[in-house]
Formats: sequence, C-alpha cells, structure tokens
Amino acid sequence: MPSTPRKLELAGLDTLAVHAGRAPDPATGAIAPPLIVSTTFERGVDGGEPHGFGYARADNPNRRALEHCLAALEGGADAACFGSGVAAAYAVFQSLAPGDHVVCSDGAYHGVQRELTGPLARWQLAHSFVDTSDLAAVERAFTPRTRLLWLESPTNPLLKVTDIAAAAALARARGALTLCDNTFATPVLQNPLALGCDLVLHSTTKYVGGHSDAMGGAIVAAASDGIFALIREQQQVAGAIPSPRDCWLLLRGTATLPLRIRAQSATALELARWLEQQPAVHAVHHPGLASHPGHAIAKRQMRGFGAMLSFQVRGGEAAALATVAGCRLFTRATSLGSVESYVEHRATSEGPHTTTPRDLIRLSIGLETPADLIADLERSLR
Ligand SMILES: *Cc1c(COP(=O)(O)O)cnc(C)c1O
Repeated sequence: MPSTPRKLELAGLDTLAVHAGRAPDPATGAIAPPLIVSTTFERGVDGGEPHGFGYARADNPNRRALEHCLAALEGGADAACFGSGVAAAYAVFQSLAPGDHVVCSDGAYHGVQRELTGPLARWQLAHSFVDTSDLAAVERAFTPRTRLLWLESPTNPLLKVTDIAAAAALARARGALTLCDNTFATPVLQNPLALGCDLVLHSTTKYVGGHSDAMGGAIVAAASDGIFALIREQQQVAGAIPSPRDCWLLLRGTATLPLRIRAQSATALELARWLEQQPAVHAVHHPGLASHPGHAIAKRQMRGFGAMLSFQVRGGEAAALATVAGCRLFTRATSLGSVESYVEHRATSEGPHTTTPRDLIRLSIGLETPADLIADLERSLR
C-alpha cells in the first residue's frame, strides 16, 4: 500500500507533489500506481482485513493514496476525498447538528450557498452570509450557536481577499471552527491550516486534476479527531465517494500542480495588467494588481496570486456576451483550473438569483502562449 515514506516528512512542496502517496508497488515493482478497481478485498481467516481494506466505499488504495498526498501538500493531519467539491462541503455541514449556525462568506461558491439555503435550511442548520473581507461584519454575524466560519479566498468571481489568519483567530476566540475553500489558490499558493484554519476544502475537479477529466472534492484537516472524525464517518456511511479511477487521475494531476500553477498564475498576471490598459474595459479583478483592494493581504498570505481573473466591459451585458462570443482560443465554458483557458459570462452561468455584475467576464487561464491569449482577447474586445 503506497504511503508517504518517512524521509519525505520534511520535503518541499514540489517533492511532496511528486512523491507523497506513492511508492513502487510491493507486489510488482510498478512505478506508476496500479489502478485498483476491486470493490471488495479478501478477508483473513479470522474475518479481519490483512491488507487494511475490506470494502471499497469505506476505503480503497487509490483514494487512500490521494488522501495521503493532499494531506501532505496542505500540511494537514488527514484528508477525506469525495465525489465532488459540493459533496465534500455537504459532509462538513452534516457533521454539525440542527440548530447550529454557520457564518458563510457571501462570496463562497454558489453551489455551497445553495446547500445552505436549500436542503440544509430544511434540516434546520442556520446560516448568515457576510462579506468576510470585512472583519467587523464577520464579528457581528456570530451568534452563541455559531459553530463554523466558512471562508473562501480569493472568491469567485470578484477575487475578493479575506485576511484568513485574522478571521480564523476571531472564530477560535468564539469557540467556532474555520474552514477555507482553497480551490482557487491551491496548496501551492496558500496554506490555510498554517494560517489557523481547522479545515481546508478543495474542489479537486479544478486545479488538482488540472485537465477537466475527473471530478472530486477533498477536506484536509489540521487534526484527525474532532470534527474530522465525523467527516470521515459521513464519507464512509453516506458514501458520496470518488471512483478509484478519478482518484488515480487526481493523484497523477498533483505531480504537475506546482509547475502548472506557477505558469498559469504568471500568465494571468500578465493578462490582468494588459486588460487594465484597454479602453473597452472599466474594471479588472485580480489580487496581483496593485489596484485590487485585497492586494496587500494577498501578498502577505499567498505565494502568488492565482490564475483566475475577471473584468468588466463598457457597454453592459450585450457587450460582455459579444466579447465572450468573439473568443476563439479561449473556450466558452464554466469551470476552471485546466490546461486550456476558459471564458465565461458568469451571471448567465449562476442563474437568475446571481448578484454578479451583468458586464462581467470571468477567465480561467491555462497553459497557452500568453501572447496568443492576449491576441484572442484583443480581437474579441474590438
Ligand atoms: C467548483 C467549485 C466548488 C464545487 O466543486 P465541484 O467539484 O464542482 O462539486 C467549490 N468551490 C469552488 C471555489 C469551486 O470553484
């Protein structure tokens, strides 16, 4: 069973990305991890699990390897993988109790907000949405029943930045846990556990996989007891698990994650600076720009600014839709974090209840030649 060798405990992030959760297969010597599709595992004569696996929903080799790797990359004690990012979020909320209260960033992923306003509200889990970049507002939102502060930084699609260490300290002082959705930043650029959070969420569908061909979600925890034990129970008992094949692809993705993120982030910053100079554009949102309100905090708590950006065009929704339609190299698609770049009219994707500006265009920057991406935007903005 692949497990992180002891010599890796103090390794750097790039080394962990390639080696954590991997070891040559003891049965065959295979260097590439075997994809183990078996749903059940042979029992010992005493009914035990001699190889540590009994039934694939509870645990399986490819999922365990991915969990090892993600825990190592975030500096966590343990990780639990799910079939999607929203399934991971749901497992966290279901580890609370009816009557508990969640303070949630009003910039949190819209699917997470829908969980809170829909099924979890019917289940009597209370919530307040608040702009978490405003710490005084966060403080006011706490009630005696608040158990969890839910952060996302940078947010989608305005790339708002929250002071994670200050927000987590505020929650801790009130006896609440803090989770940070780290999907946009990835462990390459930001480590919320080191900033005082208890839990980190990833939609591994995005940068961890990196190729838009596998779905998944993960919770990484600072401690393996407490709420994480309940999250593990949710994974094994409620069973919203990823397939071994998706885990295999996601673990493969982690090896190139640091390189991809650095290259994609550098291109995103170049594009953001170029967009700021365009007369057809009236606002650019990227935490790497000195003009961004969260720039100073992002500089302090991140090692780079990420590969997501958005901008607003003159001429309202019609101009935004025309710009999106005019792109040829950028693919019109929702989602993010892949090797190819995406362009999206975000308000349309989010549906009728969105508060996203109608003239806003979101970009997920991939690995193409930066000049080709700029040429594509230049043509479509004309
Ligand atoms: C996509 C996304 C999610 C949800 O993940 P799925 O894998 O689509 O369920 C959660 N948070 C953020 C920031 C995302 O971008």
